[in-house]
Order: sequence, then structure tokens, then C-alpha cells
Amino acid sequence: MALPETTLNYLLLLPPAVATILALSVARVAAVRRPARGWRQLVACAVGAAWWCFLQIPWVLADSPDAARWIARLQYLAILTVPVLWTQFTLAQIGRVEWLRWPRVAAFFLVPGLVLACAFEIGPGSALIWQSIAILPGQPVPRITYGPLYLLVIAHAYLLTLIACSLLMFRYMESPHYRRQLVVILVLPLVLLMTNLLYVLGKWPLPTDPTPLAFAAAFALMLWAMLRHRLHDLVPLARGMAFDSLDEGVLLLNSQGAVVDANAAAGNLLNRETQSLIGCACETVLGGVSADWLLEQIGETHLPVEGETPRLLLPRAVRIRETSSGLHGTVVTLRDVTAERAYRRALEEALQQIELANERLTRLASTDELTGLANRRALLERLDQEVTRAHRHGRRLAFVLLDLDHFKTVNDRHGHLAGDRALVAVAAVLTREIRNNDLAARYGGEELALLLPETTRESALALAWRIAEAIRHIRLVGHKGTEFSVSASFGVAELRADEDGVEAFVARADGALYAAKRDGRDCVRIA
Ligand code: GH3
Ligand code: MG
Ligand code: MG
Repeated sequence: MALPETTLNYLLLLPPAVATILALSVARVAAVRRPARGWRQLVACAVGAAWWCFLQIPWVLADSPDAARWIARLQYLAILTVPVLWTQFTLAQIGRVEWLRWPRVAAFFLVPGLVLACAFEIGPGSALIWQSIAILPGQPVPRITYGPLYLLVIAHAYLLTLIACSLLMFRYMESPHYRRQLVVILVLPLVLLMTNLLYVLGKWPLPTDPTPLAFAAAFALMLWAMLRHRLHDLVPLARGMAFDSLDEGVLLLNSQGAVVDANAAAGNLLNRETQSLIGCACETVLGGVSADWLLEQIGETHLPVEGETPRLLLPRAVRIRETSSGLHGTVVTLRDVTAERAYRRALEEALQQIELANERLTRLASTDELTGLANRRALLERLDQEVTRAHRHGRRLAFVLLDLDHFKTVNDRHGHLAGDRALVAVAAVLTREIRNNDLAARYGGEELALLLPETTRESALALAWRIAEAIRHIRLVGHKGTEFSVSASFGVAELRADEDGVEAFVARADGALYAAKRDGRDCVRIA
């Protein structure tokens, strides 16, 4: 049963009225909740869709071709700008803000501007879009015969819709976090395309164009998805951005060990294009190191990377498993430790040098520079220890002081340097003649000393005579080339059980040395 004409007309008003309210609601909610970046563009899109839907009401009611043409013109304000605004909304979403600035925005509005100029009879005229608009009896809506510019309008709208959806799709395909978003983004253009195609092919049950209603529905769906599923929420986007702004390289490996995702730092650290890593086996990317090996490794493994900037990376791996899907894989992080290693090596080298310098300082502080024997400070220190030890354990301890004879004359006759050589040669004799545990020292000037633990006065005496003999045999050459020899006088003392402190002990040896000098030098006297 056919409905009466007027009833059909009124029924036709229902969908645009509902769609207008829907689109206005989307605009309002988007303006209040501001669910994402680019919410302004979304509000503009929804307002445009509302305008477009609303004008379908007078379109159905139009009773003259002129009125219908005016309504069509006003509708074109929305038809031409909504796809542009949607593209801009998408660009805002993916963070390509440079596309939202003059003069790129102007370029976007080039085609809409041209077509609108024609629609409003500026330039070639609206016949290029609508060849004729007629009100036919028995037809619920005005009948349009389209002109060639209409094709441009359609192509422009489809192209921009395609671009907008593709941009979001590629953004969401970068990582597995966005599966739900991807579904919504794939469904939207399909809904628009299907309704538009049905209308163009004459399969749409109503005589009015469903495209504005589809747009209103699409924006409502998108807003719902945004709010409900956080479609364009900052979280996934921020997550993606954070992933790419990390200093550490991150590789996401699937269960087969192939790279399915990588951040910018990973490409950079491995001296490769990040995109070229995707699909490669872990071993290929990490120089033969497998994911399993990384997971099992104990301690630190360093990964040298060759290329323009050679690097040392510290890889770590963590197994991941998604409980809902059962998917599993591995996350490998790469830390650049090149600089750290270099610092550590430099620090170690510096520490080693400080240690060597310290050793040298300690040695210098207790050694006589000329003879290499212990100096007076070291001798007195050791004397203290040995005297204490000898008293405590009832051990024997002998001390020998020796002084080179007429050394002033030696210097005068053969030169100070020859005197030095004589001292060095005598020191060498002492070092050669004593035992490991004995100590030979330079007591001061040309006066040397021997500290002999576990030694009786007789043994010390014998040693002193032996050394005196050896000194006498040293052959030296003076500054004038004359050969000469030196001799020394010795004073020997053995520590007495009742002797308290070092001073008296040394004084007795000194007294014996004095006696040796007095007795004609080149001899040994005992205290
Ligand atoms: P004696 O001990 O036999 O009584 O006579 P001496 O000439 O050795 O007497 P004295 O102890 O007064 O002089 C020591 C000299 O040793 C004075 C100094 O010039 C010299 N002398 C001290 N230390 C060094 C040194 O490191 N190198 C040289 N070449 N001579 C030194
Ligand atoms: Mg002397
Ligand atoms: Mg002297």
C-alpha cells in the first residue's frame, strides 16, 4: 500500500531531523569533553554535518527550482568543508601539526573554494555543478541533473576521506597496541562508502541522500569510540611517542624471534634504518645473538656494533606474554655503553697511575735517592720495631755504624761526583753482603748503618770486617782520571737486655765508631 504523498514527505523529514540532533549532540559532547587533540576540528566536522543534515529538511519541502538551488548551495558549504575538516582532525590526531598551519590549510580549501565560487554564481556559474534542478509532480524531492564539477566534488570528498582514514590506519598499524582503534578506523569509511554507493546506484530505499546521515553517524561512532575505547586517547599516542623518544633501543620480537617493532633509538644504535629492522631475525640484527640466548644469559654481554660510529651496546631481554590472546614474544632493550666504558677504562687507568705514583712516593719517602738504601727515617722506624721485638722475645739484635774515612779529602782530591760514586759502590757492597732480613741504611752524609736482627756481636763483628775488606777493594776513578780507593771505620754494638730505648743502643755503636776512628781508621771496634 502506497503512502499518501504528504505522509511520505513528512516521513522523509524524520531521518535528517534525527541526524541533525545527533550531529549537534556530537559537537556539543566533543566541545565539552574535549576527548583528544584536534577536538576543535571534530566539533567543526559535527557542526558541518548538522548543517548538511538540517538542510535536507527544506530540501524535501522545496517548492520551486530556485529555492532548491539555494538550499543546494547552502548545503555545499558543509559538503565541501566536512571532508577537509575531517582530514585536519586526523592530522591533529597523529601530531602532524605542521599541516594545520597557514598556507597548507589554505591549500586544503582550494577545491572547496573553487566549487563554492561556482555554486554561488561567482565565475563560471552553478550550472557546472547542477545542470538543472526541477520540481517534478509526484517526486518527493527536487530532481537534479549533475554537471561535470560534481565529479570533482565527489572525488575530492572520497580522496580526503581515504587520506584521513589511511593516516590513522598507518599510525595504528605501527604497533600492536592499537588493534581496537584499527577496527573502528576501518569500519568508518566502509559505512560512508556503502551508504553513498547505495544511493548513487539507486538502491537506497529513500529518495534523499543518506551521505550526511552517514557522516553524522560516523562522527557519533568516532566520538563514542574515543570516549569509550579511548580511540584517540593520549595514552596510545603518547605511548608511541614515548617509545620513539626513548634513548634506549627497544626491539619487540615475536615468538619466532623476528623483529615486529623497533623504536627510533634501536635503528640509530644499530646504525640501521629502523624500518629495515622489521621482519629481520634477531640474530641478523644483533650480530648472531639469539633472543633465547639473551634470555638465558647470566652477567653482562656486550655487543659491538660496527659502522660509521662504532658502538658498544648492552642488550637485555625480557619475555612477554599476553594472557588474553596467548601471544608471546621478547622485548630486547639496547643501552649504549660506549661512553660509559670509555670513562670506566680512563678511570681505571687513572687509578692505576695513582697507585703507581703512590707506591713510588712511599718508596721515595723511605729510600735514599743516591744510594738506594733505606734512609734515616726508615732506619729509625725499623730500629724501634726491632728493639721492641728483641726485648719482647729475647732475641739478639746487632747494630753497625760505618763512616768513610777522610771523605772530605776524597771529595777534594777526586771531585764530589767521584765521592758520590764511592758512596754508591759502598752501598752496593753492603746490600750484597747482608741477609734478606737485615737492613742497610744511609744514616747521614757518608755515614751508613746496618741493622742485623738475630745476630750476635761476634757475627756482626765478622760481617763488619768482611765489609771493610770488600770496601778496601773497590776501585774508583776520580775526575782527573786517577784511580783511588776508600776505606771505612766501623762501630758495632749488640742490644743489651737492660738497654731501654734506641738512643743508648745507637750511642754505643757511635762510641765504638769513634774508637775505630781514634784507633787509626779502616778498622772495626765493638762497644
Ligand atoms: P773522617 O770521617 O775520617 O774523620 O773524615 P771525613 O773527612 O770523612 O770527616 P767528615 O765527617 O767531617 O766529613 C764528611 C764529608 O763527607 C763532608 C762531606 O762533604 C762529605 N759528604 C757527605 N755526604 C756526601 C755525599 O753525599 N757525597 C759526597 N761526595 N760527599 C759527601
Ligand atoms: Mg768520614
Ligand atoms: Mg762523617
